[in-house]
Amino acid sequence: MLDTTSLNRGSLLVLNSGSSSVKFTAFRVGAGAGQVAPLFSGQLAGIGTDARLSARSADGDVIADESWAKRDSGSVPALLPGLLAWIEGHLPADLPLLGAGHRVVHGGRNLHRPAVITDEVLEELERIIPLAPLHEPQNVAAIEVLKESRPDLPQVACFDTAFHHTQPPVCSTYAIPRHLSEAGVHRYGFHGLSYEYIARYLGENLPDLAQGRVVVAHLGNGSSLCGLKNGVSIDTSMGFSVLEGVPMGTRCGSLDPGVIIYLMRKYDMDADELERLLYHQSGLLGVSGVSNDMRVLEESDDPHCKLAVDLFCLRVAKEVASLACSIGGLDGLVFTAGIGENGKGIRARICEHLDWLGIRLDPERNAARADLVSAEGSLPVRVISTNEEFMIALHTVDLLTAGVAD
Ligand code: AMP
Repeated sequence: MLDTTSLNRGSLLVLNSGSSSVKFTAFRVGAGAGQVAPLFSGQLAGIGTDARLSARSADGDVIADESWAKRDSGSVPALLPGLLAWIEGHLPADLPLLGAGHRVVHGGRNLHRPAVITDEVLEELERIIPLAPLHEPQNVAAIEVLKESRPDLPQVACFDTAFHHTQPPVCSTYAIPRHLSEAGVHRYGFHGLSYEYIARYLGENLPDLAQGRVVVAHLGNGSSLCGLKNGVSIDTSMGFSVLEGVPMGTRCGSLDPGVIIYLMRKYDMDADELERLLYHQSGLLGVSGVSNDMRVLEESDDPHCKLAVDLFCLRVAKEVASLACSIGGLDGLVFTAGIGENGKGIRARICEHLDWLGIRLDPERNAARADLVSAEGSLPVRVISTNEEFMIALHTVDLLTAGVAD
């Protein structure tokens, strides 16, 4: 572990590794544990097709926009050592890299807070892979590559499931035979780092609201909602996997399980075909037949695009009402992530469905994306930019600081 003095003179790297891209942010660690500030961020995207590195400084200046196609051997792990070298080459000389924090989609039942990577933690992560077969292997591979290429570099895993560990069994249990629940088939919830950031933001900036009952709508390419009570997760729309809840860019959202049985019998679909259908061909893309991008759908006159948008807005509104039931009422609504932060028309349409709950937007504030977009007399509706990378950096500093790690 590191001491606080060395952390004051260094930097941290936050990585979010997917199947064809790696997003990264380098942070300076400031005076005092817990103080982190971004240096630069970017992504290596299109790996396997036409890899390209792009990065910007914290001020927004472009510091990289270059093809990595020649280096592209088709896999994220193969390119990671080169990316790490590029990142370290761009760190200020007096801020050596002191550690790495990873976004990891699933912590399973046992890893319910950020963890320093040890052999035991890695073994547990390998064991969890069947719970999130599309995302977890990429996260674990990145940790393993860094461990191999930089065995001296401390690493921390931060889980999207961890924040929801506080949910009561009445919210996290499926109505299936108990032995399956006990074997881990239950509602884990995701986007936890985003919700944790919002809960922290509310606690620091809007303490009265933070102590109340708040629904947070994280609406992006992947979407979910979370019911917070006093800053703690009580219920969420995603469950066992990232498929449950509201429809997303290409994921179906909640579906009658009878549909799956029907598809298996009628179309002889196997697990791989169902996975493709439900994760990659459904949601906004499936309904519209045109795009998974909300901006494209909103601009289109195609009735199928209109249906996709209508369906999304109604399902999000229904989820707000459902979560309000779980948290015993509603004191405020927060929109965040790509659609939540930028989609003023979508926010307006979702809130139209919630008029009966006392929610009304102020059209001008909403169009201007003010922090507070609700009208006078309405329940407060806020737009807050999420920052999962910042949350990971904070956890990483906390865990890597001697005496704080457990
Ligand atoms: P995220 O996964 O949080 O990066 O969000 C990506 C999603 O945000 C994409 O599906 C975009 O369509 C959506 N998005 C970005 N800007 C806007 C906008 N101005 N209006 C509606 N949706 C947007």
